[in-house]
Amino acid sequence: MQPGSKPENKFAPPSDVKSVLSMFKKPKKVVVTAGMPYANGPLHLGHLAGAHVPADIYARWMRMLIGAENVLFVNGNDDHGSTSEVAAVQAGKTIREFIDTIHEKQKETLKKYSIQTDVFTGTSRPETYPLHEAYSQDFLRRLFKNGLLEKRITKQWYDPKMNRFLQDRFVRGTCPNCGNTEAYSDECDACGTQFDPSTLQNPRSQLSDAKPELKDTAHWWLDMWKVADPLKTWIDTKQKAWRTAVVQEVTNTVLIGCRFENQFEEKYKEIKATLPKHKSRYVAGKKVECLFDSKADLATAQATLEAAGIPSSVTDKWGYRPITRDVSWGIPVPSELDAEMKGKTLYVWPDSLIAPIVFTQVALKQSGRAPEMYKDFWCDPEATVVQFLGQDNVFFYVIMQGAMWLGHKDNALALPAKGDLQMTEILSCYHLMVNGEKMSKSKGNFYSGDQLIEMGYSPDQVRYYLALLSLPVKASNFDFEHFAERNKFLAGPMNAAFEKPISACNGKFNGVVPEGKLIGKAEAETVKLVQMYLRSMQKGDYAILLGQVENYARQINSLFTQYKPHDDRANEAERKDALFTCFYVLKNLMIMLAPFVPETVDALRKSLNLPESSLRAEELGTGIPAGHKIGPKGIYFPAVKDAEPAAE
Ligand SMILES: [Zn+2]
Repeated sequence: MQPGSKPENKFAPPSDVKSVLSMFKKPKKVVVTAGMPYANGPLHLGHLAGAHVPADIYARWMRMLIGAENVLFVNGNDDHGSTSEVAAVQAGKTIREFIDTIHEKQKETLKKYSIQTDVFTGTSRPETYPLHEAYSQDFLRRLFKNGLLEKRITKQWYDPKMNRFLQDRFVRGTCPNCGNTEAYSDECDACGTQFDPSTLQNPRSQLSDAKPELKDTAHWWLDMWKVADPLKTWIDTKQKAWRTAVVQEVTNTVLIGCRFENQFEEKYKEIKATLPKHKSRYVAGKKVECLFDSKADLATAQATLEAAGIPSSVTDKWGYRPITRDVSWGIPVPSELDAEMKGKTLYVWPDSLIAPIVFTQVALKQSGRAPEMYKDFWCDPEATVVQFLGQDNVFFYVIMQGAMWLGHKDNALALPAKGDLQMTEILSCYHLMVNGEKMSKSKGNFYSGDQLIEMGYSPDQVRYYLALLSLPVKASNFDFEHFAERNKFLAGPMNAAFEKPISACNGKFNGVVPEGKLIGKAEAETVKLVQMYLRSMQKGDYAILLGQVENYARQINSLFTQYKPHDDRANEAERKDALFTCFYVLKNLMIMLAPFVPETVDALRKSLNLPESSLRAEELGTGIPAGHKIGPKGIYFPAVKDAEPAAE
């Protein structure tokens, strides 16, 4: 410390935007992924709302914050699995032909919505498949070596006419839980239950008119229980970082516990104090469940219970899932590991969890960089992988993926070190409803992404509205009346905030930003908003933030009301200060809105005659210098017509 200099107060709030930005901890590199669409139909509003739009907003902001070369937004189709296979059969096309058509259409839709992926490929596409096959097979070999693949023989549906096993979507029947006659082999869409295929009633093959029969087949089950300790340790560190819904779901699933009959409850109470630290609760089937911090504690407890005459069983059912299938459409498992596994393929979920790593390699290759550089993005603790997905996929992205990442390393029981695949950040969204109901074609409230564009909405209007919905917190409604209201706000006050300074400057100041100083609360408000902006953007929480950004924009309208920079009769010095301040606010507004409404902001940027490099985070709080020559006013948010939407 220099003599005479004051010690820095670490707790003093930063008073200027530059310090706010410099104090914010930025990741070195970022990968953004979004739930992978199946190649079985068009992208709909739900895909855009819950995955692609929020992920794109995130990726755009990260590019502005740490530089485009350090950010990769990777996405593609989940080609494998029976969903696409069934859809292709039903459409009477070869699977390749079918997937290619859908893929191109989805790519077009993403483009229409300015979804700027670094790569949009698919797991079976020629640029991806060879890398994907090699990487996935290597992954399986590592899991096998660490004892995370357990072979089990189970019964599966078999079509005797087609001579093939029928799993997942190739069999339909009656749900053992609710009686829905269109249930799949192992899950029911109507009641959301997952069940053992053998409990499906009145099974029907989707490939022939033969009655399917149950036949023995061998599969690898992923042993997530083996890594339950590090999995739990990792999840415990995320209690504050993750969205409540994610935390609740995973903490209620990854349980290290045992159960006993409640007739032993009195005995248990007598020895309770001698057991390792735990929580207990009543569970279904007249049982008591005890939950421990580690498998070692569980083992100690079970021995103590046993000695006291209380038989208990481990509650590890969550920890095992089959990850191979008897289908040819997929990644062949490395059969040199076990001859009985020959001809089987990797189940589509683990396949799709590995896919974004391979997509990253493809993106790097396509941008002229070495595919091996993927490690800088995925295997460095100072980099972050952020995954946007639907709430119902949390099990797979957190628990199955977490177990795979942990379990394929040399030391499966340790958390990842530098150089290992790092655990990812999970940002889940709830379902999008339309006009108050779950989207469905039969209800007439199903909208594909293209449809809204065809109805005359601009992509930015839709992006902005989707970002305003509270999907991270609850199932939210795309309500066309509310949508129209919000569009009126954009076309009204927001447009006015863009247009007024530009018109006044061109009309009264020869298109040159006047000399002036920042007045009112502009600077203080900016510091406050930028702090909130940085935090909210990092969490992908856009709804409340946008409300604050809207309030911030209103400052321009207030300055115009108060100082009338467009009116020669008002005080000239005040007019200049006001207009100078308006341009300061406008530039900040432009930067903060850029990830949300990129096309509109680009038009604004051109009107302000600013270079593309002005859309960087570090330009926040810098304003537009006096003497800068702006351009003519452009068209920003379109005017809103009052019209009833027509659904398909
Ligand atoms: Zn059901």
